[in-house]
Amino acid sequence: METQRLRLQLCGVVQGVGFRPLAYRLAVELELAGWAANTARGLTVEVEGSADAIDRFLERLARGKPPHAIIQRQKTTFIEPAGESGFTLRESLAERSVDHHTLILPDLAACPDCIKEIFDADNRRYHYPFTNCTQCGPRYSIITALPYDRAHTTLQHFALCPACVAEYNNPHDRRFHAQPIACPDCGPQLALWDSAGTPLASGNKALLNTAEAIRGGATVAMKGLGGFHLVADARNEAAVRRLRDRKRRKSKPFAMMFPTLQSIKAHCDVSDIEEHLLLSAASPIVLLKHQRNGNIAPSVAPENPNLGAMLPYTPLHHLLLGELGFPVVATSGNLSGEPICTDEFDALDRLRGIADFFLVHDRPIARPVDDSVVRVMMGRALVLRRARGYAPLPIETGTPLPAVLAVGGHLKNTVALSLGNSIVLSQPLGDLTTMRAAQALEKTVADLNGFYAPTPCVVACDAHPDYYSSQFASGLGLPLIAVQHHYAHVLSCMADNGLDEPVLGVAWDGTGLGTDGTLWGGEFLRVTAAGFERAAHLRTFMLPGTEQAIRQPCRAALGLLYEIFSDDLFTMNGLAPLDVFTPSEQRVLRRMMQRGINTPRTSSAGRLFDAVSALLGLCQVSDFEGQAAMALEFAAQPHGAADEAYPFRLEQQQSPIIVDWEPMIHGILDDLKNGLATGRIAAKFHNTLADIIATVAATLGETRVVLTGGCFQNSYLTCRAVERLRDIGCTPYWHKHVPPNDGGLALGQIIAAARILKE
Ligand code: ZN
Ligand code: ZN
Ligand code: FE
Repeated sequence: METQRLRLQLCGVVQGVGFRPLAYRLAVELELAGWAANTARGLTVEVEGSADAIDRFLERLARGKPPHAIIQRQKTTFIEPAGESGFTLRESLAERSVDHHTLILPDLAACPDCIKEIFDADNRRYHYPFTNCTQCGPRYSIITALPYDRAHTTLQHFALCPACVAEYNNPHDRRFHAQPIACPDCGPQLALWDSAGTPLASGNKALLNTAEAIRGGATVAMKGLGGFHLVADARNEAAVRRLRDRKRRKSKPFAMMFPTLQSIKAHCDVSDIEEHLLLSAASPIVLLKHQRNGNIAPSVAPENPNLGAMLPYTPLHHLLLGELGFPVVATSGNLSGEPICTDEFDALDRLRGIADFFLVHDRPIARPVDDSVVRVMMGRALVLRRARGYAPLPIETGTPLPAVLAVGGHLKNTVALSLGNSIVLSQPLGDLTTMRAAQALEKTVADLNGFYAPTPCVVACDAHPDYYSSQFASGLGLPLIAVQHHYAHVLSCMADNGLDEPVLGVAWDGTGLGTDGTLWGGEFLRVTAAGFERAAHLRTFMLPGTEQAIRQPCRAALGLLYEIFSDDLFTMNGLAPLDVFTPSEQRVLRRMMQRGINTPRTSSAGRLFDAVSALLGLCQVSDFEGQAAMALEFAAQPHGAADEAYPFRLEQQQSPIIVDWEPMIHGILDDLKNGLATGRIAAKFHNTLADIIATVAATLGETRVVLTGGCFQNSYLTCRAVERLRDIGCTPYWHKHVPPNDGGLALGQIIAAARILKE
């Protein structure tokens, strides 16, 4: 029988998922000679033997594809037989090719087999918090270079013990070529420190003492997978309050970790799809409806009908939560706007005064990767923060792209790089107002350039010249393409849905710089092959105090009302946002608006939400982004069935069309005067916005409508808009894997640059 030799090249997420072990087992079973090796391109396998055996090899390899593997491209070539015997796993071929296409796997939640081992007193990994295997454990957070080998991870300095070496080399072991393999004898170790960094305990004793401290109401900074968490007993109101005071975080909800799915279900409504998300390898924080019949401290998520819940995703979490048996607050260990802390010495410094104790370990974290946040809307997951478990998985675009680097926006900054048919989008790095986030941006760009070739030929950034990301981009010495903020939002949502032009993009957010130099944010953009056109926008109003007006919704409300009532506004009675200010402050505001000083005009839908939230007395001053809009959404929830809405006006004589909200504001003021319940007004407001979207789409004759921008994190608005658009025969699209907020901008920037380069 004739001997053949086949070379198989796989590209995609093919390293660190158990592909080589599978190839080895099949080759040995089918008596094929050859080898398998990770390469910078992915995985290369050569098999030699009978044509029949090779066929069966390919068939069984495809059928047995490891669950976390993603094959983007596959190439098979028949080559000259080499006459070798036996099958080997070769050292990685570390050539750096021009076509650098291996993709990095995100960190994977601990698998059931590993969990079983750490709770099995007879297992050598009993109570060992860094247990992992080829199917689970750290990946992106430990990788320092490609190809994915132990020497290219932060575990490189942990020399394997004989028992681990045996597992690593045994093709029938779950840990065959598991790069982060570790055990109590040779792997990373736990330690508990006091707030001065003095070691108090190590190993399992450190874990038990940590549990004791949390039971006693202390806050513990815990080093996890992609960074630090601040952990406290979620049932202990005083402990949670203290954490809020120390972190200077008044009301932004804290995420929680529950010991088990059952314990989540005891506190929250969990649908099938939400359960599936909680149990997935990504193990994100899922926003769930809080039943409010349990013992969760009110300060965990004040005035919020939802809880952000996740399950333990590392053996360390399983051990700690198993020991505690109750849910904990597990909020990111950072200061507002900064990336999450990753280094224990850095944490001692940055989290000083917040944490009473530090539960640390000596496995270095290569880069900050925060927990992901997902919300289910209309039976589908919507990723609000795409980080651990998702980043840096590629987003397929279907068409080949030129090599472009995109540096994102300003808040929730992310960066992206195109790789052939796909785009790698980074985890959020924080708000670029902070120095540490700016440093993280630079490091992440260096990371992407180090991991992947070819080097980008163009860099795309936001059109706002003052964003740090834009300035950073212009310093790279590459041709620069500045992309309008809302156009990038729309393209991002189109890519997320695999959608081509033409579409009508509804981009509603806080603010972004428009092509006319004003602040946009309530935009209807018609996107065609030629680019985009601002087809309609919300009527503009002033933001007295600019930045201050973003933090103080009462100012947005006064700016809005000034458009209607001019100076008479200041003589009106019973206006909640006006009563916030003293008579002398009111005089200053009035002068500012009369003269147009420090009062930029905006068409922002986000600021419209702020203004109405203030008008209803829900939020005058916000202490986190989106708070006022969230308050308005939550107020509207119980009235979702109501079909009432306010009137509005379209000014169609000009282009772009202006959507005038004045009739709606009159309606809201009348309802307030008549004492209508706040919740009903809030619902009517949302309904009106959905009507506006549908009416503008119908007026412009567009049928495919894309909903994007931070405002579409709002479930009520999104669901209602989708419903109204379907009513009139339109096809609505909203986000899935990519956040509607500025965390998704970099993706849209790449598409925009690619479109320009194509011309
Ligand atoms: Zn495992
Ligand atoms: Zn070992
Ligand atoms: Fe935005």
